[in-house]
Amino acid sequence: MAKKRKHNRRTYKYQIREHPQNIRLGNLLDDLADVHNHFLRLENRYYRRYGKYAGRYRLQPHLTHLLKRTKKHWAWIPRDTLDAVIIRLHISFERFFDIPGVGRPKYKKREKYRSAKFQSGYLLEEGRVRLSFKAWDEPSEALKFNKRWFSFHHHRDWKGNVRYIQILRDAVGTFWLYVVTDDTSKEVLPATGESVGADFGMKDAFLTLNTGEKIQSPQFLKHALIELRKLNKALSRKVRGSNNWWRALRQLARLYRHIANQRKDWHYKLATDLCKRFDLIATETLNLDGMKRLWGRKVSDLSFGQFVEILKFKCFKHKREFRQVGQWTATTKPCSDCGCRNENLTLSDRQWTCPECESHHDRDVNAAINILRAACDPSVEQQ
Ligand SMILES: [Zn+2]
Repeated sequence: MAKKRKHNRRTYKYQIREHPQNIRLGNLLDDLADVHNHFLRLENRYYRRYGKYAGRYRLQPHLTHLLKRTKKHWAWIPRDTLDAVIIRLHISFERFFDIPGVGRPKYKKREKYRSAKFQSGYLLEEGRVRLSFKAWDEPSEALKFNKRWFSFHHHRDWKGNVRYIQILRDAVGTFWLYVVTDDTSKEVLPATGESVGADFGMKDAFLTLNTGEKIQSPQFLKHALIELRKLNKALSRKVRGSNNWWRALRQLARLYRHIANQRKDWHYKLATDLCKRFDLIATETLNLDGMKRLWGRKVSDLSFGQFVEILKFKCFKHKREFRQVGQWTATTKPCSDCGCRNENLTLSDRQWTCPECESHHDRDVNAAINILRAACDPSVEQQ
């Protein structure tokens, strides 16, 4: 089941400047991991007993109870941030029950817990954000609000009204501020009158267009393999858990982050380029699991899934039409000239000649032509 993604939210990402008090953000996320694990344990117990999930409307009142009794140490965190953990858990259980193939929510290690949501109780200013935590006040013997400012690198302005913010921690240990707005403004590009069919590939090119153009992906992971091996080796020489070990681990995480950034940047540029040239872009629905079984690591290095999401967003933003042909539509075997199916075609045949009309085909270009044709044919299943 493909989830229709609505483009009614836009996220802007800012790096929070390093500061000793960022340790509070780390503590916040560590505690939220505990909250997550606590309620997941409750849900699992409930599920074993009743065969369904308890859901947020049972868990939230229970949280109120906990904050007064056994989990007083969570009370320094804003209530809506704690609630957001329960709501997220609720949604993951919903998905687990409703969507086949979705796994059940998992316990998380503290350092793997990545994000905290603030719906209210924050203040955004130019280059800084104020969060309200509670702190124990000795004289009054009660929790009192304690406002803290965190400064971030305000490299661009956000558009639209801010819906909520998120604090994120990545594997390197850098903190990020996500500002989520309701911006849906578009930058409409001039019409070109051109349509394109694009076939994803592993062998010859990342993307093959029906025009015969082949777009190669730089293999960022492959290029960094020597460096990765070096860092991995350095890590394995360190004593697990020692300061040097943590430092080596962060270095490794930093390299992975760098690779991911390079790839994403390239995806954005390619998507923009396609939007500039074509009014309608058609691709095939990806069968990522099948591709992974077939090709292994290279799939992750290319991350087609991420590219498709970026392309969808760009098409929305630039008012281009994006169509995906269902994965059961035959696009590889039929000849794009006469429609005759070449059943003898194997994966290693990059070029072939149609037995009926004798036209010579490049495998991927032929598929791209078929994709575009299917996308424009109302009788073909569209996604
Ligand atoms: Zn033919």
